[in-house]
Amino acid sequence: MRAYDQLFIGGTWVKPKSDAKIEVVSPHTEEIVGVVPEGSAADIDAAVAVARRSFDSGIWSLAQPSERIAAVKRLADLYAARMGEMAALITEEMGSPITFSQLAQVPAPWMMLNQFMKVAAEHPWEEIRAGVLGPVIVRSEPVGVVGAIVPWNVPQFTTMSKLAPALLAGCSIVVKPSPETPLDGNLLAKLIAEAGIPDGVVSIVPGGREVGEHLVRHPEVDKIAFTGSTAAGRTIASICGQQLKAVSLELGGKSAAILLDDADLAATMQGLKSASLLNSGQGCICQTRILASRRRYAEVVDALAATVRAMKVGDPADPATEIGPMVARRQQERVESYIALGQQEGARVVVGGNGMPDGIDRGWYVRPTVFADVDNSMRIAQEEIFGPVLVVIPYEDEADAIAIANASEYGLAGTVWTADADRGMEIARRVRTGTYGINRYMMDFAAPFGGYKSSGLGREFGPEGFAHYLEKKSIVPAPPSPNRR
Ligand code: NAD
Repeated sequence: MRAYDQLFIGGTWVKPKSDAKIEVVSPHTEEIVGVVPEGSAADIDAAVAVARRSFDSGIWSLAQPSERIAAVKRLADLYAARMGEMAALITEEMGSPITFSQLAQVPAPWMMLNQFMKVAAEHPWEEIRAGVLGPVIVRSEPVGVVGAIVPWNVPQFTTMSKLAPALLAGCSIVVKPSPETPLDGNLLAKLIAEAGIPDGVVSIVPGGREVGEHLVRHPEVDKIAFTGSTAAGRTIASICGQQLKAVSLELGGKSAAILLDDADLAATMQGLKSASLLNSGQGCICQTRILASRRRYAEVVDALAATVRAMKVGDPADPATEIGPMVARRQQERVESYIALGQQEGARVVVGGNGMPDGIDRGWYVRPTVFADVDNSMRIAQEEIFGPVLVVIPYEDEADAIAIANASEYGLAGTVWTADADRGMEIARRVRTGTYGINRYMMDFAAPFGGYKSSGLGREFGPEGFAHYLEKKSIVPAPPSPNRR
């Protein structure tokens, strides 16, 4: 049980402005594992005020890029030393299988710190361009005070994808974690304090939707970086639109895995365990629509059913577990309501269905479920369920498969599975998503990540992700002095 009674505001632990508390409940045991103060609008005001002061003072925003890189390097080293603890903490608070926490939840943020340090080191902070009328200086400056709002499913991942570029750009930042996952944010706060980032530059204030919206509306915040649901993203974008505030959005997905007839089925099934079901299906990039040709449809359904039936469901702290609990009772109920909806829509449950998994009688578990006989227009094929529920959709030919993959409100990720890498590449070029994989799905932090259509606005990672935290300024230098020889 971890109990906090202070909030991390501007680099120091301070008394919160209200008595409200967040109780963190283990999705596995349903017992309380942590208590933290719930941030209020007044706490956000305090965090934004210190962020603004620190930004305007220039202590970080005008520091040499090399100084900022050195401080972020200290943070990366401290982070590296605590990765095991951080992974266990995330598993405890939100139920991610420990193997996923150790493989992705925690090493990934550390890799992001390192990758963004490289981008910042190579960035042309002030370049002289040969202009139309003579030389012109093009300068990069930090965008200002950043509000970062993150979800519970990959809490450190989505925090660091904003914190690392914001810090290296010279911004001050207020992070608002989800109420489900405040504990990992508090561990990060300790590391930030140890790393010696100047006072005022970073605040981490957990809270709910209203507190998040207060941060979005705050007139002293220059940019919002958001990861979460498409519904919340629309609200945030409209507020930022009214205020003409910079905003980047990483939103939901309903990605498709296209299985071509020449795919090695055994290897594909192994790959889909991760690409479609990582983090117990609570992943924005999960490829939950499985597209199989009519010729091999029955074979694919059988293979997928056997694969999912064999996956181990249970205690997320057990390294053998492949599917853990849902983050909260509300999420368990949501997934179960979609399983019931799929049956009402006429789809056929081939494995899973509603009810607790065998041998489990507490915790927010669902049975991993595969639906066959699914039409892409069904709600279970169009809406993001955010749990271990896969739908298998038949296609006629490759053109039909591409059309079905693209017939979605979303455009975040996708894969194609084939023995022919060139055909895979052809398909990759035609599916309208921000990332794609051939016979595997991975993110590379040197390359942009983000969504087409309702999956988002803007990109994270790589120089493209760094650019969101910079403003560009053009300075015309003084004309050559007539006295100079
Ligand atoms: P959510 O939108 O309910 O909440 C996300 C965060 O936004 C939380 O911190 C929440 O408190 C806050 N929030 C909610 N409404 C807000 C508002 N109107 N104004 C300001 N803040 C608000 O999403 P969730 O259930 O926590 O997370 C799951 C969603 O996140 C899924 O849709 C998933 O696809 C998406 N996601 C996307 C990515 C990506 O990179 N594209 C990554 C992870 C998760």
